[in-house]
Amino acid sequence: MTLRTRALLSAIAVFLMAVGFMYAAALAPNQAYSIVFGGLAFFFLIPGGMWVRSIFRCPVCEASIFEREGLLTTFWPAPTCSKCRADLRNR
Ligand SMILES: [Zn+2]
Repeated sequence: MTLRTRALLSAIAVFLMAVGFMYAAALAPNQAYSIVFGGLAFFFLIPGGMWVRSIFRCPVCEASIFEREGLLTTFWPAPTCSKCRADLRNR
C-alpha cells in the first residue's frame, strides 16, 4: 500500500467517525446524550484529524502531504509534494 493510499484511508476513517458521532448525536434519545456525543466528536476527532494530517509526510522534505500552496489543506493527499515537488504517486 502506498503512502497516499494509507493517508487517504486514514482521512476517510476519521471522517466516517465524525459522521458517526454526528449521527449518534442527532439520534440521541435526549439532550444530555447529544451533548456528550458532540463533546466526544469535538475533543477526539479534531486532534485525531490533526494527528492524521501530521503523520503522513513527504519522504523527501517532511512536509505534510495534505498541504497545498500557502495555508490550504485538503482532505485528499497531493500527488506531488507542494514544497519539493517530489512525486508521491508510487511511494
Ligand atoms: Zn517534499
